Amino acid sequence: MTTTKSYTAKAYSAESATAPLVASTIPRREPTDYDVQIEILYCGICHSDLHYKKNEWSSVLPTHYPCVPGHEIVGRVAKVGPKVTKFKTGDLAGVGCMVGGDMNTCPYCRGGNEQYSPTQIMTYGSADDGYLGRPTYGGYSDSIVVTEHFVLHVPTNLDLPAVAPLLCAGITTYSPLKHWKVGPGQKVGIVGIGGLGHLGVKFANAFGAHVVVFTTSPGKTEDAKRLGAHEVVISKNPDEMAKHAMSFDFILDCVSAEHDINAYIALLKPEGNITLVGAPEKPLSVSAFSLLFGRKSLSGSPIGSIRETQEMLDFCSEHNITSDVEIIPIQKVNEAYERLLKGDVKYRFAIDMASLKS
Ligand code: NAP
Ligand code: ZN
Repeated sequence: MTTTKSYTAKAYSAESATAPLVASTIPRREPTDYDVQIEILYCGICHSDLHYKKNEWSSVLPTHYPCVPGHEIVGRVAKVGPKVTKFKTGDLAGVGCMVGGDMNTCPYCRGGNEQYSPTQIMTYGSADDGYLGRPTYGGYSDSIVVTEHFVLHVPTNLDLPAVAPLLCAGITTYSPLKHWKVGPGQKVGIVGIGGLGHLGVKFANAFGAHVVVFTTSPGKTEDAKRLGAHEVVISKNPDEMAKHAMSFDFILDCVSAEHDINAYIALLKPEGNITLVGAPEKPLSVSAFSLLFGRKSLSGSPIGSIRETQEMLDFCSEHNITSDVEIIPIQKVNEAYERLLKGDVKYRFAIDMASLKS
């Protein structure tokens, strides 16, 4: 039995995989000792929101309905618990994909790698929020309450709606590029120019690499160059692909749907690495030969730690990096999901949460 008090927040939620997102209310806990209550101003729409709402990851992460997606959250601190030291009322604050973990016993949480923790409580999608005995509800809402360790300081010099996607798409691309030490003198590929990919291009360029974009959409060529790509390859064209055989140090795969990953492994130099951040519904098929000739490696990467997320936000503040966003009212969220599936967004939707009041 929990004794934590709750209040009612406004939200948009879906009752099933096929139901639309509609206006609803959800319980949020009143801030406890170390909690920060945030008035949400903007929330990005990540493709993970769509996978989750449609229960496309049912084998690893079955959806709890009603679900409230959203893990690219920026807002203003409305209230803090009595023991909070990192934030005060009125501060800008951000929340990404994680809102909790066992800071007492989990070695990953204690060691500053909360993203690896089996005790991780996700912003949405966890069965128990640890307080109210309810699943976690994400950022398509007017407020959220999060323990201060998982709340980020948001730079004040950047455009706020364009910062929101950094909380997931930003850290998810920044972290593997840093891990694999992408920098000057390296040839780096970014596959799929969506929310993640367009930020991957900006970071890889800022880190000094030679950046090649792989896209299925010829219409994105000029944008890719504006975002920081030095070359653009239309991945459906085998001749264009063949010109880049065995030439890449590192490739970041940001694709949300089924595709042939072997075609990209063939473009790696010996000992090169391809890292998957995209999380398609169906498993990808990998040829052993494509990896073993050349001792190439295939990795995955989940978001990033809280410390690294703050580092990424500070890097963006210094280098003036934000997401390209299309701001929408929450009433357009279902239409936005349809457009996202068609690749019709440049390059992230950000929901203006003021619209939830109307
Ligand atoms: P998005 O905005 O929809 O972008 C995905 C891009 O993939 C599209 O813009 C398109 O790029 C390409 N694409 C789509 N369908 C394709 C197909 N059938 N074949 C080849 N390319 C295709 O999605 P996002 O928000 O960036 O998310 C991308 C993926 O990363 C999702 O699966 C999401 O769940 C996952 N994700 C993972 C993490 C993590 O921690 N690892 C974090 C966040 C998101 P082009 O038009 O340029 O080809
Ligand atoms: Zn996400």
